[in-house]
Amino acid sequence: MREKFLKADIGISGANFLVADSGAVVLVENEGNARLTTSAPKIHIAVAGIEKVIPRAQDLAVFLKLLARSATGQLLSVYTSFLAGPRRTGEVDGPEEFYVVLLDNGRTKLLPDRSKRESLYCIRCGACLNTCPVYRKIGGHSFPWVYSGPIGAIITPQFMGVSHEPGLPFASSLCGACGEACPVKIDIPKVLLELRSEVKKMEAREGQNRIEKLAFRIFAWVMTHPRIYEMAGRMAASIAPESDNGWIKSVPAPMSVGPMKAWLSARDLPPSPAKSFREMWRNR
Ligand code: SF4
Repeated sequence: MREKFLKADIGISGANFLVADSGAVVLVENEGNARLTTSAPKIHIAVAGIEKVIPRAQDLAVFLKLLARSATGQLLSVYTSFLAGPRRTGEVDGPEEFYVVLLDNGRTKLLPDRSKRESLYCIRCGACLNTCPVYRKIGGHSFPWVYSGPIGAIITPQFMGVSHEPGLPFASSLCGACGEACPVKIDIPKVLLELRSEVKKMEAREGQNRIEKLAFRIFAWVMTHPRIYEMAGRMAASIAPESDNGWIKSVPAPMSVGPMKAWLSARDLPPSPAKSFREMWRNR
């Protein structure tokens, strides 16, 4: 790759932080490729979200520590570059031209909302990704936009609108591990719930998911009527397929029909117990 870096006319980087008092673009990395991008080509363009601006170099000390510790457990990343302009007279390295592009892209519209505004605190350390049981199972490529994991699940719908990927806020077990791990204390589970509520409101406005709504109404009704619940349990047990040893690997008809077919065809069911909990309780 080195040859390509040396021949490139323009290098485009992001920025981990922009320090207002010195005007420095700060880049944190362990590999050295960002350094090559910013210093070898004649022109360097840094594109960064407006939330990357921090007031003073003094504040940067705190953030650098937080970032390295939460991302990879290091005291400090291998390369921390401070770029404060084009190459000066007498210097051998650095670009001849240097530009900083400050990107809004939906960020200012989050500012009035107290909990959504929190999403802009993110320093992209990745701690929430590493701890998330969903991310660890499905990986980053399953997320549809730039950011993945828990932070992606709250930032994507906020930047792009909840209609962009309405399933994203639901890609969470709400275990709360992300909120625990976040060094800047973004309450990710709370924002996920708020976004879920927004998705549901949007669906109601557009008349979507009527069947799901009806199913949950029936579910709520059954769950709040003990006798009906018991009867439903007996009925389910009577039609459930029997298995002598362990889990039933495929679910045969009549359970795998209609809209449930696709869902049940990929899931295993435990065999139904000989007695329900209620029966055991009555006969204790
Ligand atoms: S939300 Fe918190 S834990 Fe996740 S990447 Fe951002 S700063 Fe790190």
